[in-house]
Amino acid sequence: MTKDLVFVLNCGSSSLKFSLINCHTDEEVLSGLADSLGSSTAMISYKYQGEKKHISLVPGSQHQVAVDKIVLLLTQLKLTDRVSIIGHRVVHGGELFTESVLIDDKVLAQIEQLSKLAPLHNPANVIGIKAARQAFPELSQVAVFDTAFHQTMPEKAFIYALPYSLYKKHGIRRYGFHGTSHYFITNQCSKMINKPVNELNIISAHLGNGASVAAIKNGNSVDTSMGLTPLEGLVMGTRSGDLDPAISQYMIEQLDYSNKQVNTIFNTQSGLLGISELSNDCRIIEEKAANGHVGAALALDIFCYRLAKYIASFTVPLGRLDALVFTGGIGENSSLIREKVIALLTIFGFQLDQDANIAARFGQHGQITENTGPKALVIPTNEELVIALDAMALVEE
Ligand code: ADP
Repeated sequence: MTKDLVFVLNCGSSSLKFSLINCHTDEEVLSGLADSLGSSTAMISYKYQGEKKHISLVPGSQHQVAVDKIVLLLTQLKLTDRVSIIGHRVVHGGELFTESVLIDDKVLAQIEQLSKLAPLHNPANVIGIKAARQAFPELSQVAVFDTAFHQTMPEKAFIYALPYSLYKKHGIRRYGFHGTSHYFITNQCSKMINKPVNELNIISAHLGNGASVAAIKNGNSVDTSMGLTPLEGLVMGTRSGDLDPAISQYMIEQLDYSNKQVNTIFNTQSGLLGISELSNDCRIIEEKAANGHVGAALALDIFCYRLAKYIASFTVPLGRLDALVFTGGIGENSSLIREKVIALLTIFGFQLDQDANIAARFGQHGQITENTGPKALVIPTNEELVIALDAMALVEE
């Protein structure tokens, strides 16, 4: 039996995305999502050979139960023996991890320690790693960090204007996230515009539920919009992005919110959802805005305005821009948001190609600007493939 598959796990606090990637063909053999874990509606949905199916879970099921069910599914589909390694998406690698690593007890303990920098994310990643270790004790496991790609940022981009000792003693600095996606986009863009990665200057806009922009110079990340945590920067589905840091103090001291409430509001009740008072789903926001919903229209305006401001500012570290790239669920599919953002950037000479913008959706890549000005491209991201290839490379070393 050839061991040609990598099992990729991306564990969130109440969900678990999984896929099996064939490393020789880059094909996604199986993909799925265990959703609403810990709640009464916990269940697994997956896609295999073009068919979508569901597996029900006992209400309240947690990650371990979901992993066990997924392992059973792999056995039933006769795929288990083909799995050679497991790759985990880990959100925060701090300054400890500048590249992917094989997980041993020491690495696992370090990832656990980094939970203090990412309390909403790393604990779930640790649960996923432990569950997978228990289910596949004989297989090697690899951690691929969202922060690693940004470890090339210079100090002027990652140091906050706070007392320097807060960085030195407590690691308070910009780390940046979505690194696997920005890395993948850099490599794909290099192929698309036929320019070597180490000569490539791009701005990569990953716009999903979470959203971030990265400035990439000569193939390396030199600045990014997310910070110590994934809360900073752009307007996101439910996260506020940039705020006056005094707002939290004001809410706590003057308006009697608790620390926890403020944190919950900034992370889960803000962004597109908070402004529109409707939804965090960009499709719904666009539809309602088109029907005259004032809040939805405002949410779109603020989203695009903030994004365009970031893109404009990221020309500063680059000097020369080879391409602006849109990716993530919104970047890959929303021709409206791309059109609005390009319109805000006309000062740089971007000229939208309307037909190309409409064509580059639903998995289609393409250039969406006229050749007269700078290029804007749409490139579908594939974080799972990066995780799989990194994992494979580590076992082959
Ligand atoms: P995640 O960050 O959870 O991986 P995705 O990258 O899948 O998220 O992006 C989810 C976002 O993409 C949602 O806001 C969704 O509404 C948006 N999206 C998906 N398809 C479209 C579309 N056709 N038009 C506009 N937005 C879309």
